[in-house]
Amino acid sequence: MIRGVGVSPGIAYAPAVILEWTFPDVPDRSVAPGEVEREVRRLNEAVVAVVATLNRLRERVLERAGLEESRIFEAQIMMVQDADFLDGVIHLIRENNLSAETAYEFKALELRAAWGGTANVRLRERLADLLATQLRVLRHLMGQSDDELFGLRDHKHVIIVAHEIYPGLTVQFDRDQLLGLVSEEGTRTSHAAILAHSLGIPCVMGATGAVARIRGGTMVLLDGTTGSILLEPTVAELEAAQLMAARRHKLELQLEAATQQPAVTPDGHTITLMGNVDLPDEIETAVRHGAQGVGLLRTEFMVTGRAHLPSEDEQLEYFRRVTFAFGSAPIVIRTYDLGGDKFPAAFDAPSEANPFLGWRSIRVCLDQPEIFRPQLRAILRAAADRSIQIMLPLVTRVEEVVRAREILAEESDDLARAGIRAAKDVPVGVMVETPAAVVMADRLAKVSAFFSVGTNDLTQYTLAVDRGNAHLASRFNPHDPAILRMLSQVLETGRRYNVPVSVCGEMASEPLHAVLLLGLGFTTLSVAPPALPLLKWLVRTVPMETARRAAAEALEAPGPDAVTEILREALKPVLDLRLIDTQGPLPGRGSGASLLP
Ligand code: PEP
Ligand code: MG
Repeated sequence: MIRGVGVSPGIAYAPAVILEWTFPDVPDRSVAPGEVEREVRRLNEAVVAVVATLNRLRERVLERAGLEESRIFEAQIMMVQDADFLDGVIHLIRENNLSAETAYEFKALELRAAWGGTANVRLRERLADLLATQLRVLRHLMGQSDDELFGLRDHKHVIIVAHEIYPGLTVQFDRDQLLGLVSEEGTRTSHAAILAHSLGIPCVMGATGAVARIRGGTMVLLDGTTGSILLEPTVAELEAAQLMAARRHKLELQLEAATQQPAVTPDGHTITLMGNVDLPDEIETAVRHGAQGVGLLRTEFMVTGRAHLPSEDEQLEYFRRVTFAFGSAPIVIRTYDLGGDKFPAAFDAPSEANPFLGWRSIRVCLDQPEIFRPQLRAILRAAADRSIQIMLPLVTRVEEVVRAREILAEESDDLARAGIRAAKDVPVGVMVETPAAVVMADRLAKVSAFFSVGTNDLTQYTLAVDRGNAHLASRFNPHDPAILRMLSQVLETGRRYNVPVSVCGEMASEPLHAVLLLGLGFTTLSVAPPALPLLKWLVRTVPMETARRAAAEALEAPGPDAVTEILREALKPVLDLRLIDTQGPLPGRGSGASLLP
């Protein structure tokens, strides 16, 4: 078995075809001065030919997937025609008497290095599109086919295995011919993954070593949900895959039905399910899946990879966009959680030995009010006619909350003096994501409108496990009794001081973990938008009584493995655990190990 990341769901079984569509070896070739203009012409002709190919692909995608998807190729056409880039190549040809392909490759390498090295995630994600266009032009100039399917079209059924899958590949086959895709590179957000998803082609990416381990003609069984790839599966494995597909279908129907229904447990307890929004394009999914507001609006995307901080007006526009999308439902805006590599490019951030224990989050905001104040002003202005709350991340001391509220009051006065429409005040809550905040919750309660538990950081700091370290993934257990006891303690303190407590960490997006949270007494969970339907279904399936008993027992358990066992035993009578098993990792889930093997 090879493991990757499932990026487009579904099960496929077919012979593998290895796609080797790679950058050609370009020799360093000079030309005689009299031939220079011919090389420039060749370059221009190659560009025209590649644009024609991309236009054909664009039209095919428009027909088969839709307008939004076809824009992928508009973007690629713009990349191929980029005037600055082509001027650079032509300049090199003329100055150094180089052949078109030698000059093109030189400039192409330069550009790839710049894109690959940037901190801008979006730009790095588009690297595959850039590679695809450069490959086409270079192969054309070298007299090789710029068609990645060259020689592959005759296969009846195929699962294509490649180092990297470019978006063009997915649309050129007929759906009944191309049954699945496997690649070593790529992520859920690559354009090739998005296209495979739109076209309904099961796809697994990030399958390290796939090209070396899978020979052409090998029978492959891939699961685009869980990311598993089985080579030469047995009859029993094939039957198990079919059964899995049937179960998934059943669950999908149930989830679809649940989206329209209220989040009420079978024994009548109402739960509020909100969405965590990290990027603007998640707003739509959250709304579609019935999120009752945003329990965590992350604001870092406005900063990362950019040269400057966003202006107050830019932030206001985004906050308005989010609030309008959710009508009167509450929006919890988290102030900048900057730190590590999350700074604007021009920002002179210190290099630190332990960035997660370093100058980040509320510490940065309080030390650099010129970053903090415009954000607070934008929030106050957006809150003039909408239900908005402010949430402060990584709080470890009461003074931090007090100071943040003072700054907020100063900005509110300033806006009033200037006659700018804004809310007079906005409730300020605290993210409980450090052990210090848990222990000091009774003091924090006096200055906080609400608590929201960030289980990702709380788990990391409590269990001393780096949340981003894949080697420690099996130790990153939010269901460890140490964390459950902290959660219970915060709830208790919240009750005593009349401060509402919710959870916005990824723990709430993991179905079985969510059962524990409900059982502990949390009635508001904010989760990754793709997890909302499953969570709603879970709430409607598991009686609160069952969840409570499991949570009470888990609090007394000696360790996380025992908690897993308690949960499985408790849930067996009320739901088919295999139904959840079939789900695979949900996008947006933390690095925490699933409770299910
Ligand atoms: C958390 O720490 O649980 C959390 C929700 O915040 P983030 O994942 O953005 O650190
Ligand atoms: Mg956090």
